[in-house]
Amino acid sequence: MASLGNPQNTIAVIQKYNFHFQKKFGQNFLIDTHVLDKIIKAAEIGPDDFVLEIGPGIGTMTQRLCESAGSVAAVEIDRNLIPILEETLHGYSNVEVIESDILKMDLTAFALERCAGKSMKVVANLPYYITTPIVMSLLEKPLPIHSITVMVQKEVADRMQAGPGGKEYGALSLAVQYYAKPVIVANVPPNCFMPRPTVGSAVIRLERYERPPVEVTDAAWMFRIIRASFNQRRKTLANALYHAGGLCCSKEAVWDTLLAMGLSADIRGEKLTLAEFAQLSDRLKASLKQNA
Ligand code: SAM
Repeated sequence: MASLGNPQNTIAVIQKYNFHFQKKFGQNFLIDTHVLDKIIKAAEIGPDDFVLEIGPGIGTMTQRLCESAGSVAAVEIDRNLIPILEETLHGYSNVEVIESDILKMDLTAFALERCAGKSMKVVANLPYYITTPIVMSLLEKPLPIHSITVMVQKEVADRMQAGPGGKEYGALSLAVQYYAKPVIVANVPPNCFMPRPTVGSAVIRLERYERPPVEVTDAAWMFRIIRASFNQRRKTLANALYHAGGLCCSKEAVWDTLLAMGLSADIRGEKLTLAEFAQLSDRLKASLKQNA
């Protein structure tokens, strides 16, 4: 089977199988070989690697992955693509296509079975409608993931990589950066896909930390504080946490904690670094315990 990363071969496969793109599955297939090269290079795939690909589509990137990796598992939700993948991946003996919804898979059991004590690399041109749940479930679960190299909406890549102060910085930036080091590898325009998406795209590589870069007693509590801070991002941090349901933080407790940390009492959440959120959440937890 000829390699697929160009418009002619993609159209030929689609016509042969009378395939209809499904918007609900976020189907925008890559048709640019340079972009494919960049993804494969950024993912640093070698012959010892086990790769999980999410959403292989007609197998364009899968073919490249099979050529570089030791083995590949490709999880595709759309059953109409399975017979196409059987043909486009026919020549490769190191690939397994799994018909499944990635969000419903037991990834812990999957990793235990397939990784055999080694780590895996995740590579994908993600369906944009579920980018955040996919990335967060890969990061939050204790999976043996080395890195995640994915195509996402440009705006989402910017949010993942953003630092304090800017309008892109938020709960997603902090959640991603607690688990991984994000690096945007390439910006990709709509004409590299079929059909063309209405938004710009970017390839981002998330290199998973062995240990989070900050120490925090209760990460779940820290993320509740982070979410509450950015839910009402125009409020001061003290106001946002006071008004958030269920946190039980008085404005005075937040003011005292911020001042003790050397920060201004009327600071907004968007100015705090991850390390400062970690410190704030530990200190607030201790003061809530004291006053209980
Ligand atoms: N990898 C192909 C490419 O680059 O040409 C296709 C990428 S397309 C943006 C996203 C793919 O993810 C589609 O094949 C779509 O059917 C699949 N997909 C969508 N939702 C999924 C889910 N929940 N689980 C697994 N695959 C999914």
